[in-house]
Amino acid sequence: MAYDPNNIFARMVRGEIPCIKVYEDADTLAFMDIMPQSPGHTLVIPKVAGESLFDSEPAAVLAAMRTTQRVARAVARAFEAPGTIVTQFNGPVAGQTVFHLHFHIIPAYVSGTLRPHARERVDGAVLESQAVRIRAALLAT
Ligand code: AMP
Repeated sequence: MAYDPNNIFARMVRGEIPCIKVYEDADTLAFMDIMPQSPGHTLVIPKVAGESLFDSEPAAVLAAMRTTQRVARAVARAFEAPGTIVTQFNGPVAGQTVFHLHFHIIPAYVSGTLRPHARERVDGAVLESQAVRIRAALLAT
């Protein structure tokens, strides 16, 4: 499948549609997942085109991983999560639904089971309040 430059994440990078941003640098963007699997679920993307791990430039993967580590630390601290799941899907059969490379940061809690992947939307105000906590944790590093 050819990379679609109008996929939803590419449009976020270009500022054509909004996202609840927690971090941005020259190469990457991190924002709240609108259908989170647990409170604090955050996504990290490289800014350059690439559908999956297989067709992305190594430099883009490296930049995204660097940001994933940084943001995952902040998410874990902000939510006092005892565990953190980092996932990345390649292809529809693997569960990929947006075809621009991205890494999921999903806090894992002792008592909670994960919500289904990409199914249930959470209110934007709730996500914004979670983003505030993550941004604060990032500033504290
Ligand atoms: P994947 O299924 O691995 O491709 O993950 C795509 C993720 O993007 C899912 O977890 C969706 O909940 C999430 N998602 C879809 N649209 C948006 C959006 N507009 N803003 C934030 N997250 C989104």
